[in-house]
Amino acid sequence: QQPPEPNAQPSKTPEAGSAPSTMKIDDVRSTAKAQRIAAHSHVKGLGLNPTGTAMQMGGGLVGQEQAREAAGIVVELIKTKKMAGRALLLAGGMGTGKTALALAIAQELGSKIPFCPMVGSEVYSSEVKKTEVLMENFRRAIGLRIKESKEVFEGEVIELTPEETENPLGGYGKTISQVVIGLKAGRGTKQLKLDPSIYESLQKERVCIGDVIYIEANSGAVKRVGRSDVYATEFDLEAEEYVPLPKGDVHKKKEVVQDVTLHDLDVANARPQGGRDIISMLNQMGKPKKTEITEKLRAEINKIVSGYIDQGVAELVPGVLFIDEVHMLDLECFAFLNRALESNLAPIVIFATNRGMTEVSGTDMRAPHGIPVDLLDRCLIIRTHPYSMEDIAVIIQIRAKVEDIILKDDNVVAALVEVAARTSLRYATQLLTPASILSSVKGQDHLTAADVKEADGLFYDAKASARILIESASKYIS
Ligand code: ATP
Repeated sequence: QQPPEPNAQPSKTPEAGSAPSTMKIDDVRSTAKAQRIAAHSHVKGLGLNPTGTAMQMGGGLVGQEQAREAAGIVVELIKTKKMAGRALLLAGGMGTGKTALALAIAQELGSKIPFCPMVGSEVYSSEVKKTEVLMENFRRAIGLRIKESKEVFEGEVIELTPEETENPLGGYGKTISQVVIGLKAGRGTKQLKLDPSIYESLQKERVCIGDVIYIEANSGAVKRVGRSDVYATEFDLEAEEYVPLPKGDVHKKKEVVQDVTLHDLDVANARPQGGRDIISMLNQMGKPKKTEITEKLRAEINKIVSGYIDQGVAELVPGVLFIDEVHMLDLECFAFLNRALESNLAPIVIFATNRGMTEVSGTDMRAPHGIPVDLLDRCLIIRTHPYSMEDIAVIIQIRAKVEDIILKDDNVVAALVEVAARTSLRYATQLLTPASILSSVKGQDHLTAADVKEADGLFYDAKASARILIESASKYIS
């Protein structure tokens, strides 16, 4: 049996029957906001017992038991589809774990659930409409799990492409996430994400970017067979200039699962901005490639996605959109949110605020948390409370461990707790890295209270910075 003709276009047509028109999925890059989540990498879940009560410490979370238990109920409501059209509001002071709690909820809902954090003030951009920013973030929080049955052939040749990813594979200080598979009889290239067992073999073989490798279909074993200096470009295997491998039989079918978000699909399918005429192209030269995601494009993607879902090729994975400082949004944004929550393509929306009774942004209308009552009516509200010194000490120790920073004695923990009490928990946890740099410069392998004091003297927390701005307002340009 001969391998089928590979798809010459880099687009994916689902196997089952009459697929809707195609969209680009294969070269989708993840647009997840990884950096913002890094500060919460220790958070793995809500840390609840099977009965729903909070453990003192669990899932990477400490204290805040009431809020965690309430969040557990919200997870149940989401799982039983009773949160549709509603949102969750986390109300509490700075650094009381609102973001950590929202992330824990996402993790309780399942692994690989998209989590998209944003701050209310992000909508105020001079270039992009407020509702557009919100729409983009909504789509970042809606995942699509695409299942595709792939046939693996003896004699498949893989050319490794340089990509930025978390996968620690590849040589020359680079990493790879995707491999390009060129089928022997093929004219084009086909991208395929391989299952982790093959990645392990790749790692064992110390395969580098640019290597051409051969997969044995039965065992999944990988052999290095040559090198190519063409990355991710179309290459013609008929010319056999790369690898003269025997043609093989179809050995097995395997399911390849790809997780993307609707925003990833929008980006991958967006057309370059500006016209295709020579003047527009000249104007674009030397500038970063800008693409335009139009409403029409999104509607097309939605249609194709619905088609995939109907055929069972893809499954919708609603994630969590976390909007911090929700009181920064104005009426136009709130109207958008009211509408968007009704949509059948809505993620779970979690708002957070540290405001009490205050004006709705851009109006003189006062409302609880600065949120108009019609939207507030749709919200379940959970309060987060300030941490005790003991809880703060434990949280700081957890963060230090995650960051591989050694806190040997009680003095250094006490110094960090003192900083957190005077400023904020977030500032104290953020101070760990600069303090550890100062410590390693001195040749120490652990952090001391003196390092913490030194780092604290070099940086300003938000409150101190604001105080200085007020005290010396006349010296700054306003
Ligand atoms: P802000 O109001 O400033 O946005 P926040 O309420 O969202 O703050 P976080 O950013 O979640 O607070 O908390 C600050 C840091 O402390 C983060 O690194 C977070 O992961 C960690 N943290 C907060 N609460 C807990 C907790 N209960 N257990 C473990 N870590 C926590």
